[in-house]
This record gives sequence, structure tokens and C-alpha cells, in this order.
Amino acid sequence: MEYEPVIGLETHAELLTESKLWCRCSTRFGQAPNSQTCPVCLGMPGVLPVLNLQAFELALEAALALHCTINRTTFFDRKNYYYPDLPKNYQISQNYCNLGVDGYLEIPPDGDPRRVGILNVHLEEDAGKNLHVEYPGADYSLVDLNRAGTPLLEIVTAPDMHSVEEADSFMQTLRQVLLYTRVSDCKMQEGSLRFEASISMRPAGSDGLGPRVEIKNLNSMKAVRGALEYEIRRQTAALKEGKTLEQETRLWDEVRGRSGRMRSKEQAQDYRYFPEPDLLPIEVTDQTLERLRAAVPELPLARRWRFCREHGLSDYDAGVLTDQQEVADYFEACLEAHDAPKSIANWIMNEVLRVVNERQIPIGEFEVPPQRLAELVRLTDEGKINANVARDIMAKMIETGKDAPVLVEEAGVEQISDQAALEPVIDQVIDENPGAVRDYLGGKKQAIGPLVGQVMRLTRGKADPKLANRMLRARLDEMK
Ligand SMILES: [Zn+2]
Repeated sequence: MEYEPVIGLETHAELLTESKLWCRCSTRFGQAPNSQTCPVCLGMPGVLPVLNLQAFELALEAALALHCTINRTTFFDRKNYYYPDLPKNYQISQNYCNLGVDGYLEIPPDGDPRRVGILNVHLEEDAGKNLHVEYPGADYSLVDLNRAGTPLLEIVTAPDMHSVEEADSFMQTLRQVLLYTRVSDCKMQEGSLRFEASISMRPAGSDGLGPRVEIKNLNSMKAVRGALEYEIRRQTAALKEGKTLEQETRLWDEVRGRSGRMRSKEQAQDYRYFPEPDLLPIEVTDQTLERLRAAVPELPLARRWRFCREHGLSDYDAGVLTDQQEVADYFEACLEAHDAPKSIANWIMNEVLRVVNERQIPIGEFEVPPQRLAELVRLTDEGKINANVARDIMAKMIETGKDAPVLVEEAGVEQISDQAALEPVIDQVIDENPGAVRDYLGGKKQAIGPLVGQVMRLTRGKADPKLANRMLRARLDEMK
């Protein structure tokens, strides 16, 4: 019998706020342990939480971008459990009335567009961090509460995904949406984006759901993929041997590439949820909702499809250009100055992204702003300079901050695309390279390459290589 996986994902994204969810402590990453704490986030007796309005609005905006229905009156609950990095012994979260429910995220088609259902989106606080001292014989751990109380968005999908590829596509697309909406910086290396997966196997084509295994400790998309692949293998092998699987929680060990049993699955009642008595319910007004709805930008997938439709780009090119909002903005700003989508797209993908990726800078810090890149591309499109020269000019633009036309003038590299001007050079090259000429006439078509190279050398790179190629072929064909 063949089995297929049924996969759901829970995503935790730290919200891009300056301060924590219930107090004014900073959320800045990488500071000295316990330097960003106060009585509220340390869970001291008698303190009261005050909601960070910006965090609430960011969470609402994410819920809207994920097409959720917004609960117009929402409230927080206490989730009770003990852990050393949770000084209050409860986490303030949402259980009975999530701020957004019943949404979906469209993921790029591998054929047809697919919608992955979003069961709910809610707001909660992050815990601190336990640091396990890792030298031989160490018998203690340390607790850093800088992260305690950081606003965390939790996004829970329906069990709608049926392959590792679909889960991967969901994670990539969700990350793009959170970046486009500026809800989270999604820096996985700083723990801003974390996942938990649930997976069960069922006979392929059936509707049933097998016992669900939850996998925790997935701090990267790579870890999610590895853990899902491992679980699919493990569960399929067990089912084929006739074993029964049980509902449980497992922990992913990234280093060893395997998951291990953590505990049998806890139930919601184990957390003794009850409404948080220290916070009032929140009512979302029409005005707030309309303002936030208007703030949701065009989302990455919609923009990708529009780039294909309006600018005639391939799906691949549109995907590269819309991966980051700033790059998509840069591309469209270039088009305003030079409406040649295909050549602008090629320039950005081959040259601009190469430079910014090498230097690991955002495109916003790239020295050549869109209008000036468009000018350079226009010069090549009009045949004034060839592609090699254009690359040199871009390097000089970065270095000097001068405009392309000025640099072309200064360097005297304007392309020779005038047939009359090239004719004496073609003559000279044919005279001086009898060997290559003989090869070409003898049927070795690739001998044209070195001859074009000679034309480029004699013109110090200024000849239009396509024109040189055409003229050489015409002249040689006459000699046959
Ligand atoms: Zn605090």
C-alpha cells in the first residue's frame, strides 16, 4: 500500500516592534543577557501588562493579508505551564477567541494555484531562553529573559499540505508576505521565524487522518524539510511493518538528522486556559480595520503574476524580481525611466543582484538608483555601447557616482555601430589572420569567433560585436 503525508504548520514570527508586548523594554536582538528586562517581563508579583498597540495592529495586518475573518472583539488567555524561561508560569496567548480565523495563503502553482487554509492567527508573548552550559562536567543552565514578552504572531494552518515541496512553498511564500507587510524581519538566524510541524500518514487517496506527530524545535526552513522527510520515512516504514503509530510530540535533532520522542501529545486542557484577568477585551473599530486593510500592500504572488501579465516576463524572472519587495520596487522604478521590461529585468538579475548579493547589502543601498540604471540600459538598447562596455560603465558608476552618458563620453567607448567605420577594420582582420580565414572557408564555422575577437581588440572593445559578426560573415562568404 502507498501512503501520503498530511502536513500542517505552525509558524511563530516575532513582530517588528521596538518594544515588548506588555512593557516598554526593547526587543533589540543580541544585547547582554537580562539587560532588557523590567518587573513586568520578569513576572514580578503585582505588576500589570499594558498592550503594545503597534504589535496588535501588526498582527491584525498579517491576519488581513492572510484573508482571515477578523474577530471584532477579541481577548487574551493564560496558558499555564512551568518552564524556567517563563517566570510568570503562564504565557499570555489567545485560545478562545483568536484575532483572525478562517483565512488562506495562496502558494505558487506547480500546475494549479493552491490555497493552504489558515485556521487562525493570534498574538502571544515569547518566552526567554535557557542557555545550557556546554563544557564537560557543567551541571547548570543559565536563563536570559531579554526575549521574554517579545510579541509573537502565531499562524496555524489546516492540515492541507501533502508533500515536503508544498510545505516548503508555503513557508517561502508566508515569509515573503510577512516581509512585504513589514510585520516581521523574518531573520531565522535571530530566531524571528520558527516553525512546528504536524504530520500523519494515510493510505494514498483516502480522506482519513492518522495519529498526528508534532515536531518541535524547527528553527529554519531547512530543519522543517529535513524533519518532514525523516518522519515520512519513519512513519511509512512503521506502517508497512504493520505497527500502529501514536499521537506524540517529537523533537528534531538538526545535527543528527533525526527526531526523537519528547512526550505523548499534550491536550489543550493540560494548559488550563482561562481568560487573562489583567487585560480588557479589545474592540476593533471600523476605522482601524479600514486603515489596516488599506495598508496591506500588493502581495508577492499577485505582483509576480502582474509582472508576467503587464510586463511580459517569464514566471521565473517575475519570481526572482518579486522575491524581495525592494527589488520589485526598484524594477518598476526603472521602467518609469526606460520602458523595456525584458532588458531591465536581465540587467537587474544578472548585474545588479550579483553586486548586491556579493556585498550582502539591500538594494536600497546600491549606489546606482533606478533612474540612472535605466539610462545605462537605454544606451545599450539603443546600440550606443555594447554589453561588455556597459558592465564596465556600471562599475564606474558605482565608483564615481557619475551618470552613464557622462562616463561613456569621458571614456570614448561609444560603440561603433556604423558599418562604414568598421569596414577598414574588417579588411585589416581578414588580411592579418589567414589561418582563421582558411579554417572558416574550409567549413569550420566556429573560426568566426577569434576573428570577431580581433575586431573587438582593434576597436578597443567599441565595435558592436553583432554587427562585426554579420559583416565578417558577409565578407568571407563573398570570398568562397
Ligand atoms: Zn520589560
